[in-house]
Amino acid sequence: LLDALADMGALAIERVRLVEDLDRAERAAETDRLRQALLTSISHDLRTPLASVLGAASTLRDLESALPADAKAELLATIIEESERLNRFIANLLDMTRLEAGAVAPNLSAQDVAETVDTALRRTQKILAAHRVAVEVEPDLPALALDPVLFEQVLVNLLDNAAKYAPEGSTVTLQVRRADDRVRIAVLDEGDGLPEADVERVFDKFYRVRKGDRVRAGTGLGLAISRGFVEAMGGTVTAGNRRDRSGACFTISLPVPARTAPKDIAA
Ligand code: ADP
Repeated sequence: LLDALADMGALAIERVRLVEDLDRAERAAETDRLRQALLTSISHDLRTPLASVLGAASTLRDLESALPADAKAELLATIIEESERLNRFIANLLDMTRLEAGAVAPNLSAQDVAETVDTALRRTQKILAAHRVAVEVEPDLPALALDPVLFEQVLVNLLDNAAKYAPEGSTVTLQVRRADDRVRIAVLDEGDGLPEADVERVFDKFYRVRKGDRVRAGTGLGLAISRGFVEAMGGTVTAGNRRDRSGACFTISLPVPARTAPKDIAA
């Protein structure tokens, strides 16, 4: 009986190993597919702007004397715009790599959310110049444990998206509210919103609802990075569509730190 049991045990172990091997092979194949897709996407995002820069620069060099001034100005504008696109993409790639390597260590300190929100709004003033901006910040919000650099970058990303994906003249709303032991920061716009089925996918690396959308410059990395940064600070960020009208709504939720030294007990 003991021998039979031992045999059955060995068989069971063998089966588990086989299943594990299969799982591993499947996972490896999936990782390979993902890596391939990433590589294709990265090389496309690097090569397309680079090709535009090269094209414009070569035209300028070869036809310099024959080109009218406005054509030259247009070529120069292309070179600058496309170089900026490349710059943004590389900065995003570096942020993403740092996040994935676990190398983003937030420098948390007590921050006044209202002030940080103001700074982000100042930084996006130009981008949002063609939109109306409504700011609704609840008074007397508690200080939050934030890395102001990371937090600002997330807000700038969300505001930048609102400016890009909602029509000029529409209103972008920034709300900051306390909800129990959390503070919620929401960016709402009046654009077309997100396809309901893809609401979670917008946080995937390189995901863009309209593939190859070059009118609205983007890398498909902004939201992936934003989520990484918010989570590194102990918060969450979610995407959805507005219920009151058409438009997207992105909500950052951050915990209110436990009060260790309430100022009203002092003295
Ligand atoms: P991108 O660089 O393409 O803007 P993001 O990661 O910031 O990359 O966003 C991913 C995709 O999510 C965008 O390409 C766009 O399709 C969609 N998206 C993001 N924000 C909004 C928004 N406010 N309204 C509609 N779609 C949005």
